[in-house]
Amino acid sequence: MRLYNTLSRQQEDFAPVRDGTVRMYTCGLTVYARGHVGNFRTFVAVDVLRRALKYVGGYKMHHVMNFTDVDDKTIAGAEKAGLPLREYTDKYITAFREDALALGIEPVEATPRATDPENLQAMADMIKQLDDHGHTYRSDGSTYFKINTFPGYGKLARLDHEGIQSGARVDSDEYEKENARDFVLWKATKPGEPAWDLGCGSGRPGWHIECSAMALRLLGGAPIDIHTGGVDLVFPHHENEIAQSEGATGKEFSRFWFHIEHLLVDNQKMSKSVGNVYTVQDVLDKGLRLSALRYFLLSGYYRKQLNFTWTGLEQAEEALRRMTDFLGRVHALTSPGEHPEVAECVQMAVTAFDKALSDDLNTSAGLGEIFDLIRALNIAMDAKRVGKGDAERILAAFAHFDQVLGVLSLRKAEDEKPPIPEAEILAAMEARHAARRARNFAEGDRIRNELLEKGIILEDSAQGTRWKRK
Ligand code: AMP
Ligand code: ZN
Repeated sequence: MRLYNTLSRQQEDFAPVRDGTVRMYTCGLTVYARGHVGNFRTFVAVDVLRRALKYVGGYKMHHVMNFTDVDDKTIAGAEKAGLPLREYTDKYITAFREDALALGIEPVEATPRATDPENLQAMADMIKQLDDHGHTYRSDGSTYFKINTFPGYGKLARLDHEGIQSGARVDSDEYEKENARDFVLWKATKPGEPAWDLGCGSGRPGWHIECSAMALRLLGGAPIDIHTGGVDLVFPHHENEIAQSEGATGKEFSRFWFHIEHLLVDNQKMSKSVGNVYTVQDVLDKGLRLSALRYFLLSGYYRKQLNFTWTGLEQAEEALRRMTDFLGRVHALTSPGEHPEVAECVQMAVTAFDKALSDDLNTSAGLGEIFDLIRALNIAMDAKRVGKGDAERILAAFAHFDQVLGVLSLRKAEDEKPPIPEAEILAAMEARHAARRARNFAEGDRIRNELLEKGIILEDSAQGTRWKRK
């Protein structure tokens, strides 16, 4: 498998260093708001990476994704809501888990919170190591990392010494620093803010130390295999993570750095600060399905910006339907027989799909291979050159594609889950049945139409009535 590594600015051959297991860290959501679709572009891309490493690369995963549950924004949010910090962030963590599940994102091996006591202790211990190696200084009760003690500073972002690239996320911690680019490791808090005293003075961790400490604590030490996040994290967040982790351990922190380009709206990054965000719920409210949203988000190469439009989502829905219609046709094959040309065509598509995904996760090329196969097999089916005996092989290929893409399984789960509670459907069916028994057919039809408007179709047969999703 080849992956583009931001550190070398090149594609490199990837294999994990230990035991066939990929140790990967993803910077998770800052939990002061519900994640938006832009955040989920990154999380869906990381999920496809994870799945490709497992189902194409054949590796096991040890994947950690944190929740940033203490920083300026979460503290300000909790204060405004009048809630203890952890209680305030709990609800956004729950919302994230719901949205991630609804988008078919596989659960990862660990989802630590920065404020878990063992993680806070790991952060304090790392700061102690940095002290011992002469990388820190104190000012106004806060502890800072002194960047000119770390000669490798700037190697990820390729900083010139003039400083910060335009568009990069600027550190919002505003305390007394010796050098503008020095950054805070442990921050003296203001009265009323949460504080911990774990050996580096009463205060709270800076954002960057959270990820370094959690990654190394939970992934078994340096070097980890892959570190991921959106491109806005390259500088200063990931640059600072490298300085801290390598300054503390003396070892390379992460072998690969995998960054996802932004989701845009009208050529601007989707972000809360711009105010152009859409949530998963907004997509549902438009009557669109999350399988289509997932398809849309993963359909473009992750290193290219992607523009969010409703038309784009509708096209994704159409593409997905082409896939499910094709699979419906395969399931319905009745003519007997098995054809070597079909087997060959399917095998070639699987090989080409794996090759595309192994080529720096080229999902758009992978999808292209799937649609070429669909086109070829539709023609073959029209010509009656596909038999029931071929179906299993074709379905197995699509099961493989979907292990990586996760769109068909999501769609199936959506189909099986009614858009309204099942009890409501059953009660309406019972009421319709009673109306019809009383020969009140108008009322029966009214109930049927009401369900139809809610996305439920009733099918009557000799065995009784069944419901299905529209
Ligand atoms: P945050 O909660 O701001 O720390 O962001 C969580 C993740 O979402 C980070 O990896 C960000 O880089 C990523 N992210 C934020 N906005 C976007 C966007 N518009 N497109 C893609 N990724 C984004
Ligand atoms: Zn991080």
